[in-house]
Amino acid sequence: MAKLITLFKLLPKKHQLLLSLLSLAILVLLFIPTDNAEASKQTPAHNAAVRYDVPLAFRTPAAPGEQLAPASGEPQESEQAAEAITETIVEQTSDALETEVDKQSNSMAELEHFEVKSGDTLAALFQRASLSAREVYDITQLPLAKKHLITILPGEEITIGKNSDGSLQLLQYRIDAVSTLTINHINDAYTEAVQTKDVESRQHFVSAEIHSNFWSAGVDAGLNPAQIMQLATIFGWDVDFALDIRKGDSFSLIYEQEFADGEFLRNGNILAAEFVNQGERYTAVRYTDGNYYSAEGRSMRKAFLRSPVDFKYVSSNFNPKRLHPVTGLVRPHRGVDYVAAIGTPIKAAGAGKVVEAGYNQYNGNYVFIRHNTTYTTKYLHLNKRTVNQGESVKQGQIIGTLGKTGRVTGAHLHYEFIVNGVHRNPRTVDLPKAESIAQQERPAFEQLSKSLMAAIDHQKQVHVAMQN
Ligand SMILES: [Zn+2]
Repeated sequence: MAKLITLFKLLPKKHQLLLSLLSLAILVLLFIPTDNAEASKQTPAHNAAVRYDVPLAFRTPAAPGEQLAPASGEPQESEQAAEAITETIVEQTSDALETEVDKQSNSMAELEHFEVKSGDTLAALFQRASLSAREVYDITQLPLAKKHLITILPGEEITIGKNSDGSLQLLQYRIDAVSTLTINHINDAYTEAVQTKDVESRQHFVSAEIHSNFWSAGVDAGLNPAQIMQLATIFGWDVDFALDIRKGDSFSLIYEQEFADGEFLRNGNILAAEFVNQGERYTAVRYTDGNYYSAEGRSMRKAFLRSPVDFKYVSSNFNPKRLHPVTGLVRPHRGVDYVAAIGTPIKAAGAGKVVEAGYNQYNGNYVFIRHNTTYTTKYLHLNKRTVNQGESVKQGQIIGTLGKTGRVTGAHLHYEFIVNGVHRNPRTVDLPKAESIAQQERPAFEQLSKSLMAAIDHQKQVHVAMQN
């Protein structure tokens, strides 16, 4: 209580007067039977708006000469007002007073949220919020408000706090996850500001072993679809994610997570990763140029994709038994069959020129691409061709869709990889060596690579220790 009295003395004269009035109201209420107070809570006229408007008056300095109760206050209204005050005092105790002393402008009023609907205008929104024409005009004259509110989109919202007389006290608009526009209206003066949260980047480690397929291992490890695809893209030059993944393969990665004032904001780049495929270890480190290099500094990019089919369409059919016939078929079968749904996009494994695109009864729809004097790739049984003979294609460009045209028993892509006129196994053939990091970048890259790979090794040990 002594603390309360000290606080009371610290308050401006105006507030002391208000508090005295409030105390009086409480005393009066204490002598009213509780039943009545309960009953009044049930009256329809007692709406939420009245209840939170009053505490606002309690915290916002009233203009000189203004009464606590609204000028038009009917007896019933002021009774409700008194009740609301009682609740406030009882529930918030002295904390509210301390807050009041500390920061008068930081009102704890309940706020109303107004969502922008499709086809809405700012004017319509302000009208729903019952702002006066004058207030709308004043707000739209403020430079920051003008800049940010003009681009408001459906689904976004404006938060509004009002004084007891219904006049605007506070307007807030969340520009994005990091920035918020705040307009204060105090004593007829407007102030506006854009507050920006501190964005902090943290490194997050994830490690997983593949039990059924790569996709679900990624999901189980907490990666989102975009991250799983990114991981497959990083290693997709070395690993055929459609056919080469085996039970027991594993991956570990460190990626960025962004936090705004400690709150999770979004996932950032994969900084470093390791992929162990059938006992072979592949590494990748993201350098400042945005490209990925192996831990030793070789570019992850190669002249050819290991697989011309997007793995995510095939991985759902993951079946170790189905994979065995591929090697068994090597002699009579001069390529690799990718089984997936009809319509699955087929990509050019490397940049080159379409030397043949047509149809015959054996190949069905087919496309042959000549990459240079050494390499040619062939794509058979397509449902549709999307390139023509003579056309130049980029690596990864969609050249058609998977089908079951020609002499086939089911839908699949038959893919051939020809080196100097000789058919080679596309999944094991040595692909042209990738470029390395530029000589002048090497010291900086090696330092980065060393620390990130060490972090992965360390985290893996921690991860294993925690599982045992
Ligand atoms: Zn085949």
